[in-house]
Amino acid sequence: MNILIVEDEKRLADVLVQIMREAKYNAEAVYDGQDGIDYALGGDYDVIILDVMLPKKDGFAVVRALREAKRATPVLMLTARSEVSDRVTGLDCGADDYLTKPFASEELLARIRALSRRQGEVVLDLLRFGDLELSVELHDLKCGTRTVRLSLKEFEVLRILMANPHAIVTKETLIVKVWGYDSDAEANNVEAYISFLRKKLHYLNSRVSINAIRKVGYRLEEDSPC
Ligand code: CA
Repeated sequence: MNILIVEDEKRLADVLVQIMREAKYNAEAVYDGQDGIDYALGGDYDVIILDVMLPKKDGFAVVRALREAKRATPVLMLTARSEVSDRVTGLDCGADDYLTKPFASEELLARIRALSRRQGEVVLDLLRFGDLELSVELHDLKCGTRTVRLSLKEFEVLRILMANPHAIVTKETLIVKVWGYDSDAEANNVEAYISFLRKKLHYLNSRVSINAIRKVGYRLEEDSPC
C-alpha cells in the first residue's frame, strides 16, 4: 500500500513515515500543499494523510483540487484543533475522514486500513455512520432499505453529528453552525430537532442513536449488532 503524507511539521512527518513503514506500507512525505497536489495527482496512492494548516495551499485546497480532478483517493485529514468547522469544511471539500492531533498510532493505522478498504467505492457526497447513509445533495437519510427525507435543519444538525463521530457536539456549536451567530435560537430549538431526528432514526430501525451527554451536548453512538 502506498501512502502520501502531506505535513509541514517535519518531525511529525518523519514520525508518520516511520509508523507507516513499521506497518509495512510504502510512505513518502511532502511538506507543503502545492507539493501535496503535485504528488497526489502525479502518483498512485492508496491513502493520503493530509494536514489542514500547510504552507502555499492549505489542506482544504489540496483535497478540493484532487476531487476537481476526479481523483477519489481516500483522504484522511489531520486537524490540529478540535474545531467542528475544520472537520465539516474538510468533509465538504471531499475528505473521507479526519483525525484530531494528537492521536495514537494504533488509531491512525485503523483509520488507514478502513479507508484503504473503501477505495474504489468512495462516494463524495455521502456521509456514513454505523448503518446510516446521509446524502449531502438530496438530504436523504438511508438505513438498509428505508429512506427518509430530512428537512434542512434536521439535515444540518445530523450532518454535524455525523461529521464528528464519537465526539460530543455541544448545543452551542449546533446553534452557531445551524442557526448562525446572530440568531436567537436557543437550546430548546436544538432539542426539538434532535427529537425529530430521533423519531426518524426510530422509523428507520437504525442502530444509531443520538445520546445526550450530561446536558453538554450530543453524541452519535451505534449499538453493536445483536
Ligand atoms: Ca501544519
